[in-house]
Amino acid sequence: MKKIVIIENIHKDGLKILDNRPEYEYELINDVSEENLIKRLPSFDACTLRVSKLNENILKHCSKLKIISRHGVGYDNIDLKYIKKKDITLLITAKANAVAVAEHVIYMMLSISKSVNKYDEEVRVGNFKKNASNIETLELFQKEMLIVGFGRIGKSLIKRCLGFDMKINVYDPFVNKEEIKDFGGNKIDNLETGLESCDYLSLHVPLTEKTKNLINYEKIKSMKKKAIIINTSRGGIINEIDLDKALKNNIIFGAGLDVFEKEPIDKNNPLIDNKKVLLSPHSATFTNECKSRMAIETTKNIIDFFENKLDKSMIVKI
Ligand code: NAD
Repeated sequence: MKKIVIIENIHKDGLKILDNRPEYEYELINDVSEENLIKRLPSFDACTLRVSKLNENILKHCSKLKIISRHGVGYDNIDLKYIKKKDITLLITAKANAVAVAEHVIYMMLSISKSVNKYDEEVRVGNFKKNASNIETLELFQKEMLIVGFGRIGKSLIKRCLGFDMKINVYDPFVNKEEIKDFGGNKIDNLETGLESCDYLSLHVPLTEKTKNLINYEKIKSMKKKAIIINTSRGGIINEIDLDKALKNNIIFGAGLDVFEKEPIDKNNPLIDNKKVLLSPHSATFTNECKSRMAIETTKNIIDFFENKLDKSMIVKI
C-alpha cells in the first residue's frame, strides 16, 4: 500500500482517480505551516504539491518520500539540491496548463488595450458617451509581439496571437530558428533589440539567477510609449518597483501581472494603487477546465510512476 499526501486541496476529478484505486491510500493536508508539514509528512511515499514551500528543513524529515508531484509546472518552491541528493523524483503537470495561461495573456492584452475598466466605470457612473471617445484604446491587429521563453506556454500563445494577425518575435536562446519559424514566429538573438521594437511583451521563462530582474527600468525605458508588458511567468522576472515607476512616468501604456515577487502581494506594494497595471492573483490556471486537468494529471503521474508507465515529459531533469 502506497501512501499519498495531497498538500492543499485539488479539484475533485483528481481525487476521484485515487478513490477508484484502493491500493493507494491518501490524506489531505490544508495546514501548510512548516511545523505541521514536519509533523505530518514523514509517513508518506508521495505527495502532490501546489505553491507551498518544501524546503530542506521539512524534507529532511521525509525519509520515505519518493515523488513530489507538482500541480503545475513551476518548481521554484522546492529545494532542488536536496531532492536531487536524496533521489526524490520531481513530476509536473506538463500537458495541463499551457492553454489556460496563454488565454490569460490574451485576456490581459485585450483588457489593457481596450481600457475595459475605464469604459465599464464610465457607463456605471452615468457618463455613457461623455468621456468615451477620450479613453485611449489600441488594436492588436498587425502589432509586434515579443514572446520571451518559447516552451509549452510560449508555443500555445503564439497560435493565439497569430489569430489577431500579429507579427511575432521570439527570444529564447535554447530553441532553434527553424522550430520557431514552423510555429509562425521569427527568432531574435538580441533581447534589447526586440524590446525596442515590440508593442506587446509577454514573459514565459522560469525564475532563475539569470532571469531575475530580466526586465528592469532601463529595459522598460527602451520600449515604445504605447507598449504593454504581461507577466504570467514568475514574480521577480520583472522588477516591480521599476515597473511601477515606469508606468507612473508614462514610459509605457500599461502592464498585466498574474505573478508577484511576494505572494500574496503586500498591502503596501505600490502596484496596488497603480491603475495602469491589471492584476490577477496567480490565477491564470484557475479555469474550471484547467483545474480539473491539473488535478487529474498530478494524481495520475504518481500512480503511473509507481506502475512504471509514466510519460517521460512529466519528469523534471534536475
Ligand atoms: P517551459 O519550461 O516549457 O518553457 C520555458 C522556456 O524558457 C524554455 O523554452 C527555455 O528555453 C526558456 N528560457 C529559459 N531561460 C531563458 C532565458 N534566460 N531567456 C529566454 N528564454 C529562456 O515552461 P512553461 O510551461 O512554458 O512555463 C513558463 C513559465 O510560466 C514558468 O516560469 C512557469 O513557472 C510559469 N507558469 C505560470 C503559471 C501561472 O499560473 N501564472 C502557470 C504555469 C506556468
